[in-house]
Amino acid sequence: MGRKFFVGGNWKCNGTSEDVKKIVATLNAGQLPSTDVVEVVVSPPFVFLTSVKSELRPEIQVAAQNCWVKKGGAFTGEVSAEMLANLCIPWVILGHSERRALLNETNEFVGDKVAYALSQGLKVIACVGETLEQREAGTTMEVVAAQTKAIADKISSWDNVVLAYEPVWAIGTGKVASPAQAQEVHAGLRKWFQENISADVAATTRIIYGGSVSGSNCKELAGQTDVDGFLVGGASLKPEFIDIIKAAEVKKA
Ligand code: PEP
Repeated sequence: MGRKFFVGGNWKCNGTSEDVKKIVATLNAGQLPSTDVVEVVVSPPFVFLTSVKSELRPEIQVAAQNCWVKKGGAFTGEVSAEMLANLCIPWVILGHSERRALLNETNEFVGDKVAYALSQGLKVIACVGETLEQREAGTTMEVVAAQTKAIADKISSWDNVVLAYEPVWAIGTGKVASPAQAQEVHAGLRKWFQENISADVAATTRIIYGGSVSGSNCKELAGQTDVDGFLVGGASLKPEFIDIIKAAEVKKA
């Protein structure tokens, strides 16, 4: 079974309601490949999720940028997976490196979050990635394997998970991984799935790349065998996001 190209747009903590209207208008007017070729999911801040969902063309889905680790209740400031499911928000991004670093989310906590979100019927974009120090120390595969294992230890199926490899040193820095660097880690993660989960999970789980993806570097990255799409931050707020979505066509060629 082929892995359909997947492009996520992480809007992070950006935008006024006016900005959001403009981004939605650009996405609604853009010429996109068909849904047979690419799955597109944008992730606005919580406060804009339902309006973006109702205003966007139906073939573009939405994702929350986080959710609470268990059933809702006395957790001030949190948003539960049940609430997202109740509002028919299909996806959630979990384990983003900004939350791991700034909010001290551990591998185990991320694993628990992924498991709980899946149990509530959400689909998950789960993020892993090494810091510059870890890359320079030669521990990249060890780090991303440990992050992936912490998720694998808590879930029984990868059907509704997209794994995003996002080297921390490439996020928001303009310093994109080279196609060869991305391919090497994606292939390593697929091998990890093969050896630790199953051949089927290795063959079917989409592994997407994130970190300074732009309209100018997306085609070459998309051409790598094990790159099944992108998670895009800064460029997802700009018209070039349409070009990044179109990079899916590289896989057809
Ligand atoms: C991200 O935050 O997930 C990301 C990939 O950001 P950027 O594209 O801006 O590097």
